[in-house]
Amino acid sequence: MTAPVVEARGVSRVFPMQAGAVTALADVSLRVSAGEYLSIVGPSGCGKSTLLHVLGCVDVPTAGALRFQDRDVATLPDAERSRLRLREIGFVFQRFFLLPMLTAWENVELPQAEAGIARAERRARTAELLDYVGLAARAGHRPSELSGGEMQRVAIARALANRPRLLLADEPTGELDQTTGGQVADLLDRLHHDGTAVVVVTHDAVMAERAPRLVHMRDGRIVEDSGA
Ligand code: ADP
Ligand code: MG
Repeated sequence: MTAPVVEARGVSRVFPMQAGAVTALADVSLRVSAGEYLSIVGPSGCGKSTLLHVLGCVDVPTAGALRFQDRDVATLPDAERSRLRLREIGFVFQRFFLLPMLTAWENVELPQAEAGIARAERRARTAELLDYVGLAARAGHRPSELSGGEMQRVAIARALANRPRLLLADEPTGELDQTTGGQVADLLDRLHHDGTAVVVVTHDAVMAERAPRLVHMRDGRIVEDSGA
């Protein structure tokens, strides 16, 4: 079996709330191999977003372990964990979360600047990425001047800025119509073909079927995994 890019082992995530603790994840184990493509489906509130946040090292499990490229994330120093998030992981959200004052170009360039990439390399990489998502002609536009599908393609280009090994997408077509959603799904397919591991949470059965591996969640647990 190929080496895992990320692996959750017996992961739980409990949110302590005034009205009582909420168990968002209960003993979840999931191994994502390098270059793998899987989709996660399940009813609203079953823990899909929480699982993505844990896999993306933006949330910390209450119990269990997370290994990213065979390193125990819990024991990494903060700076190392930040570096991992910035360089190894890309996130795409339902609502895009582009910075509204920045152009498409600047949104894609920003994470590269944060990673200390030299200006000439940033320029080349940004041009290449906007071209990859079919938006070279929109480089100078701000998000308010773009359609939803275009904003999501810019967000994907941004997520790819530092050549992550893992792309995590949380309902990336949730705000899009069928045609533009299809374009975004095509882009995720292409990313997978180009070697990036892709994990997509989706309500869209057609999109879920595109991934070779399908994981079903319910009540904070994985109840079915075609790749397990
Ligand atoms: P999904 O993405 O499948 O809709 P989530 O992972 O967002 O589900 O949420 C799973 C459960 O955890 C829900 O009951 C939700 O209310 C709860 N939850 C998620 N995030 C938080 C949080 N930050 N604080 C408290 N409860 C949360
Ligand atoms: Mg969610």
